[in-house]
Formats: sequence, structure tokens, C-alpha cells
Amino acid sequence: MTRPARVVIDLHALIHNFSRIQDLVPNRKIMAIVKADAYGHGLTRVARVLGKADAFGVACMEEAVQLREAGIRQSIVLLEGPHEAGELPVIRDLGLEIVVHHETQIAMLEQANTAQRVSVWMKIDSGMHRLGFAPEHFRAAWQRLHSCAMVKPPVRLMTHLAAANEPANPITRAQLSCFREICLNISSELSIANSAAILQWPDSHADWVRPGLMLYGVSPFAGHLGEEYGLHPVMTLQSELISIQHLKAGEPVGYGASWRCPEAMPVGIVAAGYGDGFPRHAKSGTPVLVNGKQVALVGRASMDMLTVDLRRQPDAKVGDPVVLWGEGLPVENVAQQADTIPYELLCGVHKRLEFVERG
Ligand SMILES: *Cc1c(COP(=O)(O)O)cnc(C)c1O
Repeated sequence: MTRPARVVIDLHALIHNFSRIQDLVPNRKIMAIVKADAYGHGLTRVARVLGKADAFGVACMEEAVQLREAGIRQSIVLLEGPHEAGELPVIRDLGLEIVVHHETQIAMLEQANTAQRVSVWMKIDSGMHRLGFAPEHFRAAWQRLHSCAMVKPPVRLMTHLAAANEPANPITRAQLSCFREICLNISSELSIANSAAILQWPDSHADWVRPGLMLYGVSPFAGHLGEEYGLHPVMTLQSELISIQHLKAGEPVGYGASWRCPEAMPVGIVAAGYGDGFPRHAKSGTPVLVNGKQVALVGRASMDMLTVDLRRQPDAKVGDPVVLWGEGLPVENVAQQADTIPYELLCGVHKRLEFVERG
């Protein structure tokens, strides 16, 4: 018998979410962000379905190579650029686009002896202070880039927002005006918006948007669900009940005996745990669906199992279906109960699980 824990990927939902983004940003180009194995959904699986994306954004060479090997023809952007000069010939051969965010990368391009040119995005640090050229270094870096034989003009410009998911945070306005000022006399294409900015900051849409999380049907805003924005969850993590315990009042459940039955009650054992990517820090009370109805996690999740309160499901039996997140149970709610964000849960789904495509 195979392990009942598995991941269902709803390809219809993915296509739906993409067209929802198209509706939100008509006439803008879309760079679908598929780093971290497409947020845990499967890199090539997702890219194959998103035939209408204008480009794919990845974090590293390995991901770009995987996409090309899978026959993906669209533009592929290395969001962190080359990590070393040795990557440049592969970048050229595979026709990848690179983000240049640091002087050491300009130096790599200056020293490269190759006649063929590559497309470059220059990243500006407009206030997040992670990657990018500071505004005061922009001019010099821009000129240096344009004198590299390997750089194909026009160089496009991008920046990344630190808090687009916090509508009241003033840093977004400051970042937008910083970036706008830098781009004032630049006529090439610009890109700013992640998912939260697509939904919340229309004046950040520019020429290219870069949705990640919303492609997968999930809200980037704490306290809100993807469905509020017309998005459908793509990933469902599901399993089954593999045992039911009828316990007495006061009996503990699970490691650390941290949770005790308040009364005589049935407790269901589900075949899924932190070894699958379910968060060990999920609190007792975290919602779980058994037979499509919500019950509560009790005790600590262990590596391959977790336990649920079946008082509201007295007829539940071994083999009954369980959803840990996804269809019918937003991952946003589970993340909140585990003091984390949906991004981390989606990316953390373990590759040992069976993945099943639907749609
Ligand atoms: C990950 C990433 C995105 C996508 O962010 P979401 O919040 O998932 O939409 C966009 N741009 C860059 C540079 C990124 O690294």
C-alpha cells in the first residue's frame, strides 16, 4: 500500500488564476514567478501550463536549465543574475535573461569574451535593501553596463517592493517615487509589481508584472483569502485517517503529552506530518478537514502523523479523506495558526509525496 499523503495540483485553477491576473493588468507583460520549484507546485508542470506567460522568473541556473530541458521556449529571467562568471556561456547558449544587481556581475560581463549578447534587467534598490544598485550608484552602473559588449540594449529596469502586502505601510509610496525618479529619462521597459502590488498598487503595474503567490491562488495579504480576489487554490495537501483512538478525559495525545482530552472523545490519526511539510508549530485548534468538515488539530504534529479532534465527526472511520490545506481549507488559515506565511507552507511540501495533477 502506498502512503495516503499526497499533493493534488489543480491545473485548471492555475490557468484560471493566470487569466485573472491578465484581467487585472490588461496589456502588461507577465513574468510568472516559478522559483522554489514553482512555490512547491512543480517547476516544469507549472511552466508547461502557463503557455501564455511572457516570461518565467527563476532564482538560479538549475531551475532555468530544467525549464529549457523541458522544452520551455519563453524568456527565462534569472532573478539573482549570474552567481559566477562560469555561468555566462550557459546563459548565452540557453538564451536566458539576467538580472544584474551588483557590481561584481558588471565586472563578470566586462571580462566576458563572447560576441553573442544577453538581455539584461538592472535591479534598483529603491528601499528594500536586499538586492540592487542604490539610487546614487545608478548612473555609473547604467553606463558601465551599456559599454559591455555582451549586454544587449535596451537594458530594462526593475525594483522589488518590501511591503506591498501592507496597504498602510508608507514605504511603498517612497519606493515607487524613488524608482520613478530614477526612470524619469529612461525609455526602456520597467517592472515593479509582485502579487500584492498587482492587487493593491495599480500605479506599480508598469510594463511587466511579476506575480508569484497569486498564481497559486493564495492571498499575499494577511487576514485575507485568495478567493476574495477571485483566485482558486492550486495545491491541495491531502491524506487519510489511519487510526481512531477513543480516549478518556485527561489522557494526553502525541509527543510531549502537550494536549489532554477535556472529556472522553475520539481522536483521529492522520498520515501527514512535518516530514511532509506540515508545520510542526501549528497550534492545537488549527483547522483540518475530515470528510470535508472542519475539525481541529490537537497536540503536536509528528514526522509522519498528526492528530485531530473527532468529536464533531463521531462517525468518521479509518480511510476517510483528510485535507490539510487547499480545496475547502485555505492555506492562509493554516499558515496563520502556525505563525508562518502561506509561501513557506507551499514551498515546504516535501518532494517525497506523490503529486497528482488534476484538470
Ligand atoms: C518572488 C518574487 C516575486 C513574486 O512575489 P509574490 O509575492 O509571490 O508575488 C516577484 N519579484 C521578485 C524579484 C521575486 O523574487
